[in-house]
Amino acid sequence: MKKRLVSDVNGIGPALNEKLAELNIHSVEDLITTYPSRYDNFEVLPLSELIHEQKATIEGTVLSEAVVTYYGHKKSRLTVPFQVGEVVVKGIMFNRAFAKKQLKVGEKVTVTGKWDQHRQQITISHYRVGEKDPAAEIDPVYLLRQLITPKQFKKIIKQALEQFGHEIDEILPEKYLVEYKLFNRAFAIEQIHFPKDLSHLKQAKRRLIYDELLIFQLKMQVLRKYNRERTVGNAKAYDPEKVDQFIEQLPFKLTEAQQKALHEILIDIKSPYRMHRLLQGDVGSGKTIVAAIALYSSILAGCQGAIMVPTEILAEQHYQSLSNLFDGILTVELLTGSIKGKQRSERLTAINEGQVDIIVGTHALIQDEVNFMNLGLIIVDEQHRFGVKQRKVLREKGIDPDVLFMTATPIPRTLAITSYGDMDISIIDQMPIGRKDIDTFWVKESMFPRIVAFIEKEVKKGGQAYVIAPLIEESDKIDIQNAVELYQHLSSTLPSSIQTGLLHGRLTNVEKEQVMQEFAENKINVLVSTTVVEVGVNVPNATIMVIYDAERFGLSQLHQLRGRVGRGEQQSYCILIADPKGEIGKERMQVMTETTNGFELAEQDLKLRGPGEFFGRKQSGLPEFKLADPIHDYRTLETARKDAVEIIFKDVLGNDPDYDSLNTYIKNILTEYVDGFD
Ligand code: ADP
Ligand code: MG
Repeated sequence: MKKRLVSDVNGIGPALNEKLAELNIHSVEDLITTYPSRYDNFEVLPLSELIHEQKATIEGTVLSEAVVTYYGHKKSRLTVPFQVGEVVVKGIMFNRAFAKKQLKVGEKVTVTGKWDQHRQQITISHYRVGEKDPAAEIDPVYLLRQLITPKQFKKIIKQALEQFGHEIDEILPEKYLVEYKLFNRAFAIEQIHFPKDLSHLKQAKRRLIYDELLIFQLKMQVLRKYNRERTVGNAKAYDPEKVDQFIEQLPFKLTEAQQKALHEILIDIKSPYRMHRLLQGDVGSGKTIVAAIALYSSILAGCQGAIMVPTEILAEQHYQSLSNLFDGILTVELLTGSIKGKQRSERLTAINEGQVDIIVGTHALIQDEVNFMNLGLIIVDEQHRFGVKQRKVLREKGIDPDVLFMTATPIPRTLAITSYGDMDISIIDQMPIGRKDIDTFWVKESMFPRIVAFIEKEVKKGGQAYVIAPLIEESDKIDIQNAVELYQHLSSTLPSSIQTGLLHGRLTNVEKEQVMQEFAENKINVLVSTTVVEVGVNVPNATIMVIYDAERFGLSQLHQLRGRVGRGEQQSYCILIADPKGEIGKERMQVMTETTNGFELAEQDLKLRGPGEFFGRKQSGLPEFKLADPIHDYRTLETARKDAVEIIFKDVLGNDPDYDSLNTYIKNILTEYVDGFD
């Protein structure tokens, strides 16, 4: 459609224009694609299907003249009997005495209001006189922030469609319209505003949701293609035999899933295309070793590697395990915020001069002063904890380095192709053999004495326990207070031979590290902690995880916490202390006791809590759609993705005339989206 301003629509003057601008509606296209947020349904139902105290619409004939009584100050009550089938229903309307004139005896009326089953009575909020109009049964509701009345808004949309509706271009190739039996675009837009009936509305939505998801996926695929092809030239030539030798001397055999993921990663490293890949795998599935082998290959080819992690504790652990793994083979260095002064400047120089092969660090890695000699591969662990910008800054520290993102949060497929549609994805969906499932129990707080006894028994056998303190509010202070109290309670209850430690966010990094170190060395047997242990920490000797107020966490988060145990040979246990009130809460706890499969939990979590909660409020990572709901419309999403991959990777845009209109339509959108796209 040609670029037209709302002021071109007859009847939209300067005042209205301004209000529309406030709603971010500038062009006619903006206007007609401001879709209703929902519809009020005034579908007429027989009396037998009405529900007591709920809104209902019925149709009847006025039996006798309405009676109006007045009371209070200017208040009125109108009563009118209708014949509905065999039954006489009493209609009541407040403060609308004027309706009496319209409700003539024998007149057909459709009324909507609250139904009283016992009195066979309806308290009317809307009424229409005359033959029923199926289109009036569905009333669109727009989000207008009270700037414009619904009536006025509908009027201008109607006017806009009358004047310019014929200019709405079809954007889809004929092929899809036929194959998916879709309304054409102009008709769909008309029907979404003024649906003829429910089935038209459904079809209109189906068509426009497909458009929305297809355009979204086209952006993703363009980005993916562009990311790959723009950077031709970063192929890394390493000696594959050396890599194989390294793998062979490991104390274990890689699982099949690890081998497959590694293979995909190594292909990226060898290829001239820049890697932009997400490695997903449950806690303990062995992502770290896969990442380490990737780093090794890249370093063999003469590049440096970096790992960026969200917390200092995690950086420390990765640093330790990589130093051990590459002892005598590679140099590994740590760079975090707590490394300061001379030590820091020495490390920066070493990094800059290429004396360091692998740098493990936190956000400290992306500061301006950090310069690499030749950064070839970047691993970003727990990637969802970093913003897009931070990831980008790190990427710019090398010349088109390969980037591997890792996450232990299993992401349901729906979300993966929505949020990470522009990445390639590798999945480790298998645990190393010999790993025992963690026994999970859900108990009430009154069981605490028994839990303490159990901890005591396990510690005497040589095990260790985590106890995650209650999380009452989103207030650091109170959380810490809870942790402190719980710590005091536990250390006075447990025998003095058992050492209890405390970890929370207010400790300095040095203190935190000291506590973690002592826990790792089993000098501390029971660690009371706020959720700071959530990510990545590895103490294989720990066998018990007790989580207070478990209902406050997402399933994926609980799964992460649970993954802190079960890392060694011994049977491990997870005890969820929770007293959820609602059914969903109970169901969530139940699911936790039934499965240890992170992907399954993630799917459940998504269903039970929705995507915003799933990723944490701030970073839902999901784009906003006008109509589509990626969870509900996942089938359409998958279809759209398949189509988008085909369109972008088969290069039909600009070549196949059936795609010309789509090409024209998305060209602008894509140029804005990917700089350098043409
Ligand atoms: P993730 O990072 O995916 O949570 P890790 O890489 O930390 O998992 O692996 C967890 C533990 O399992 C580590 O101690 C690691 O050495 C070990 N491990 C990794 N792969 C295997 C394997 N194929 N067989 C046995 N143990 C493994
Ligand atoms: Mg890990």
